Amino acid sequence: MTSLSINRKVQDTLGRNVRDLRISVTDRCNFRCPYCMPAEIFGERYEFLKREEILSFEEIVRLARIFVGFGVQKIRITGGEPLVRSDVANLIDDLASIDGVTDLAMTTNGFLLPRYAQDLKDAGLDRLTVSLDTLDEEVFKLMSGRPYGPEKVLEGIEAAHDAGFSPLKINAVVQRGVNEQTIVETAEHFRGTGDIVRFIEFMDVGSLNDWDLSQVVSGKEIIDLIDSKFPLEPVDANYRGEVASRYRYVDGCGEVGIITSVTQPFCGDCTRARLTTEGRLVTCLFATHGTDLKSPMRSGASDDELSEIIERVWMARRDRYSELRSAKTDMTSVQSGREKIEMFRLGG
Ligand code: SAM
Ligand code: SF4
Ligand code: SF4
Repeated sequence: MTSLSINRKVQDTLGRNVRDLRISVTDRCNFRCPYCMPAEIFGERYEFLKREEILSFEEIVRLARIFVGFGVQKIRITGGEPLVRSDVANLIDDLASIDGVTDLAMTTNGFLLPRYAQDLKDAGLDRLTVSLDTLDEEVFKLMSGRPYGPEKVLEGIEAAHDAGFSPLKINAVVQRGVNEQTIVETAEHFRGTGDIVRFIEFMDVGSLNDWDLSQVVSGKEIIDLIDSKFPLEPVDANYRGEVASRYRYVDGCGEVGIITSVTQPFCGDCTRARLTTEGRLVTCLFATHGTDLKSPMRSGASDDELSEIIERVWMARRDRYSELRSAKTDMTSVQSGREKIEMFRLGG
């Protein structure tokens, strides 16, 4: 194996660099959110990837280093539920020691944070995003596909604060007719805590959630709902390409965000690459396929050879799925009939 000696900056066909890497470390999850892993499909008999099929920590770290050579500075660990992969804090430890990684984050459903928050902090994780769609007990059961309310996730949030993760980002997917009536309550709960709730428009990722536009509550509607009780004003983005649009409470009690990938797509600034659990490089959340990096790696490819594959894929990248969807008058899925990769495999 030769070592990666050069720093290559690559741009795709739309002039976008690769700056962020999202790594899905497992396809398994302890929840069964119907919009992601519906319980009727992911039941006891569902065959998840076998251990030998998924990237080892060593393989993930090796690829992460190569991506950093291309200018990646931010790495997000996700899944599936990243905290169900054993010893994931060891992976964090290794990734945190890569020179050039300035921001190491994780997205989790929070259920296992009471057990692992401190380990993650000690291992060098910089930031945590906790997904929590609602505080309503019954709606939570519906949206997590599990027979319990949000208490454990709230405990996880507490544990994360105690471990020193502050502020947290809280992700809440909004589905019309499911949790839109709980938006204001969710916003109110986190007002004044420093944590930032980001409401996410329900997206047509994967092909298992029967998405259609009527289930989407637009970011504008979400902001109007909150603003009618707690007045809001827009805030400038922290940096170019930030996925959430920011709003702050006029009374100074913090801020909320909206992620409007359906009604206001932001493909033009998309610098995100994704590494699937089984080691495929995917260049868009809505992709139908990826490029296998695991097989060449396991057949002895050098770092330079792997870099060449990555470079070739990124330079050919043309993805702008959300913009294309939004340009269609009925905003239906752009790739109907073609199977998109499921969200839990490629990392949200
Ligand atoms: N299991 C972890 C969690 O739920 O935070 C990490 C993986 S999950 C796939 C990452 C994020 O994607 C979560 O915040 C989840 O709510 C969001 N997500 C999943 N399916 C979605 C959909 N169809 N539309 C919008 N967001 C979705
Ligand atoms: Fe699991 Fe996260 Fe998907 Fe829910 S959104 S099923 S918690 S991977
Ligand atoms: Fe990026 Fe694809 Fe989402 Fe556009 S649709 S922002 S290219 S991941």
